[in-house]
Amino acid sequence: MLTTLPPEGKKDILSLRAPELEAELTALGLPKFRARQVFLRLHRYEWQSFDDFTELPKDLRTKLDETYALPCAEIVRRQESAIDGTVKYLFRLRDGHCVESVLMKYKHGNTLCVSTQVGCKMACAFCASGLDGFVRHLTAGEMLMEIASARRDSGERVDGIVMMGTGEPLDNFAASVDFILLAGEKDGFSIGQRHISLSTSGLVPKIYDLAKLDLGITLSVSLHATRDAVRNDLMPVNRRYPIAELVKAATDYQKTTGRRVSYEYAVMAGVNDSSREADELAHLLRGTGAHLNLIRLNEVKETKFKASAEQRLQQFVKMLEARGLHVTVRRRLGADIDGACGQLRRSVQLETQK
Ligand code: SAH
Repeated sequence: MLTTLPPEGKKDILSLRAPELEAELTALGLPKFRARQVFLRLHRYEWQSFDDFTELPKDLRTKLDETYALPCAEIVRRQESAIDGTVKYLFRLRDGHCVESVLMKYKHGNTLCVSTQVGCKMACAFCASGLDGFVRHLTAGEMLMEIASARRDSGERVDGIVMMGTGEPLDNFAASVDFILLAGEKDGFSIGQRHISLSTSGLVPKIYDLAKLDLGITLSVSLHATRDAVRNDLMPVNRRYPIAELVKAATDYQKTTGRRVSYEYAVMAGVNDSSREADELAHLLRGTGAHLNLIRLNEVKETKFKASAEQRLQQFVKMLEARGLHVTVRRRLGADIDGACGQLRRSVQLETQK
């Protein structure tokens, strides 16, 4: 997949999969072994520019520089939790736009939450990412650079990825898939598909497309409501792809890939946390084998939504368990740096506008 990086308009070379890179470079008249050298060098992530590709002759480095762009994710803000070591990054991309990533440290390894777009089109009512609308897609190479920069800064391995930062990955389908494949490169980050989750607000036709690729990733579906009238208000995407169609697509995904789907459900006071919703969730999900992951809402001051009280959340869990659902509550990491998705970027944007 060839993607361009504004403003230079040059192709992002890091986004190319090995066969694509080979086809491109041999078309430029280079021997195959050079394509292999370039690919290996790229996926060691120790470069700043093509000048660092020291195994290549100078004229070839110049040619690459004239033809391609190298993506970057430069750290502009960094917040580290004193409680659990979670690090939130604000990265600046080559064209000046910024995206957030969060490095979370678990006993079983480190997980990076990556952004797939600058801004977001989905306009979910409780989310900070869409408040200023959509700016542009990220390239696969830029998503990889989120990992490279977090790894370089922290000195830690990245063992797993959740595509749950800003953006709708299935709206940036080709780049998101290339990212998953390139992150798995054994000469690169070597992050297996079983350690990658992709979260979607529910672009139903793209869920079927993803199922056809039969990847080993986990699909997370942001459900957040049990009735169309409520979900229409929370997530405008529901007006196009209502709950019944979404659950059908997710169940098809599970059958086709053999991978269990996980539903995300942010519990909001007075909106979706009563016994009625527990009954409806059971009705929707029981017997599908799917997993239900409850999230404590991160309150965004520009929206009216409030997190359910802890006691209410625990009651809700009990109601769901009593109805036979597999349910977990997402652990809260970085409570002291706890801006919701998109809030760091937004606060820096607002500061610079002042
Ligand atoms: N666009 C994708 C992925 C990005 S959002 C999606 O919608 O799934 C990742 C998850 O965070 C989604 O489940 C989203 O609904 C949730 N989320 C967004 N804003 C939130 C908030 N303020 N509090 C808790 N979860 C939130």
